[in-house]
Amino acid sequence: MSDRATIKLYDENSYEKEFTATVQSCTVCGDFFKVVLDRTAFFPEAGGQIGDNGFFIVDGKEIEVFDTQIVENVIEHYTKEEIKENTTITGKLDWIPRHTKMQNHTGEHIVSGIINRKYGFDNIGFHLGRDDITCDYNGALTWEQVKEIEVLSNEAVFEGHEITTWYPDPADLSKYEYRAKLDLTEGVRLVKIDGVDLCACCAPHVKNTAEVGLIKIVNIEKSHGGTRLHLRCGRTALTDYDEKQVQVLKVQDLLSARQYEVGDCVEQLQKANKHLEWERARMSEKVALIGLQSIEKQNGNLVMELDAADTDALLAFANGGREKVSGLFVALTKSGEGFRYMITSGDSSIKLSQMAKEINAALNGRGGGKDDMIQGMFNTDLDSITKYFS
Ligand SMILES: [Zn+2]
Repeated sequence: MSDRATIKLYDENSYEKEFTATVQSCTVCGDFFKVVLDRTAFFPEAGGQIGDNGFFIVDGKEIEVFDTQIVENVIEHYTKEEIKENTTITGKLDWIPRHTKMQNHTGEHIVSGIINRKYGFDNIGFHLGRDDITCDYNGALTWEQVKEIEVLSNEAVFEGHEITTWYPDPADLSKYEYRAKLDLTEGVRLVKIDGVDLCACCAPHVKNTAEVGLIKIVNIEKSHGGTRLHLRCGRTALTDYDEKQVQVLKVQDLLSARQYEVGDCVEQLQKANKHLEWERARMSEKVALIGLQSIEKQNGNLVMELDAADTDALLAFANGGREKVSGLFVALTKSGEGFRYMITSGDSSIKLSQMAKEINAALNGRGGGKDDMIQGMFNTDLDSITKYFS
């Protein structure tokens, strides 16, 4: 360790939230300052976990610490104000966010330890941010497996296992069987969750698994051939529960559904909605065909739009329309930003399939078909389509 190395108070006691220290240096860096102390309880950004926030009290005045970083064992506290060298300060952690990170980090060790023991997968990536906590594993896990891991992890929480941390003698390291991301031989700090896990880690942890409160795995993703878990522990799990409950209660209220049946109710609503859409398309088809009957056969092309048409309605319309023109009958229905089209012709000598390329090029379209009908999408407005075919 270099003689500038900061004494890490959180190594010995992760619950030290207030401390006194002496400023070793204060360097201007753009519009903020990097303050180095002889000792600190602020945990810097490391191993995927964001740095601590808090305050320094200098002559009764609070100076905000908005980030903490580490460069070669020297911990830098970021402030907006300069503090003179050799000043004695009182450091105060923003405790609730810091303790929440401890809950989440210990939760991650419990989950990773259980996954490692059960499936042999390693934790190869970890991110502990303000809103999302992700853990990457080098093996595929199904939702079913993850649900079981969640149950086992929470049992480890409820059983209240003690957690201890220490720096073993490097000569003794080989005696321990522990999980580690890096192959270090010196300065290895071990975190032991009694009966659950042993892992090399530099971060502050809670002293008993019961303090983690709850472990919830809210999402899983496939990631580089392995699995990414999105984790919520302690207060983060409670916030997640709160936010989801707000959404469930809203749906419950809107659908007059029972809280535990909102999913089924939405499914039924979606089915009913699809049926209504189908009925509307049949109605639109009927009205369009009746409308076509009243049109006299005309020379040239005819462009007509059909409201709320599905494939069957547009097809019936396009086929009905071919009787009414000597040129092209262009049946349209709105779809997204453009129009879905089906084109027929009253003149059987016109080979529509050969015209598709030119029509699509002119109207920013795509599609094709047979000699007697082409279909696709025009990504343009109705005016341009009407103008083109007139
Ligand atoms: Zn860790």
